[in-house]
Amino acid sequence: MASSLFRTLIRSTNLPSTSRSLSLVSGQISNHTAKWMQDTSKKSPMELISEVPPIKVEGRIAACEGDVNPALGHPIEFICLDLKEPAICKYCGLRYVQVHHDHH
Ligand SMILES: [Zn+2]
Repeated sequence: MASSLFRTLIRSTNLPSTSRSLSLVSGQISNHTAKWMQDTSKKSPMELISEVPPIKVEGRIAACEGDVNPALGHPIEFICLDLKEPAICKYCGLRYVQVHHDHH
């Protein structure tokens, strides 16, 4: 009885397929980035991000993580939007602008 319980524990905790697929995904991301760096005929990531319109934020502080998926983004960056110009995230280059509600 004890040995069957042991086998059940091994089966439920030993998940090689999960760790293998995770390392595969990170490998694909670095390959993808390397291709971006080598290919000069296409637009650079910074050129592409400059075409993204500024993100409108209600309030004075924007919180940027680079991507809705935290695994693809960067450490959370709080950006102050007190200036009139759009504020630029120092990590990913996304621009944020404060929206003002003018109805009084
Ligand atoms: Zn960002």
